[in-house]
Amino acid sequence: MLNDPAVFDAGDIWMSGETSDMSDVRETLLAKQQELQDRSADLTAPPDASGSISFGKRVGDGTSMAVERITQVAAHEQVLFQVEEVARALAKLDDDTYGICDTCGSPIPEGRLEIHPWAVLCVPCASV
Ligand SMILES: [Zn+2]
Repeated sequence: MLNDPAVFDAGDIWMSGETSDMSDVRETLLAKQQELQDRSADLTAPPDASGSISFGKRVGDGTSMAVERITQVAAHEQVLFQVEEVARALAKLDDDTYGICDTCGSPIPEGRLEIHPWAVLCVPCASV
């Protein structure tokens, strides 16, 4: 199984070295941005035709919907934050500062970028 080269269908990544890595990163970021924008559109689409839900009339039927709405708003904020992060990472690609921490200027470890290609901060700065 592991000896079967067809398992690793990643030919061009290995063939053309560093520059293609960077355009792969860009593609990954653009795909992520698209995904986030789709998700953002889903989250902002009202679940029913009435649009906004009124809070605090009565604690009852509305509560679970309101809670759901709050969760959705929080999720949306997180998506927006990620959109910004991805946009910043794309700008850094253009600036040639991709992989460099925005806060302290240290290189962001490769392992982190693999998991989180839109990372613009190193681990210590990101956890502040
Ligand atoms: Zn840093």
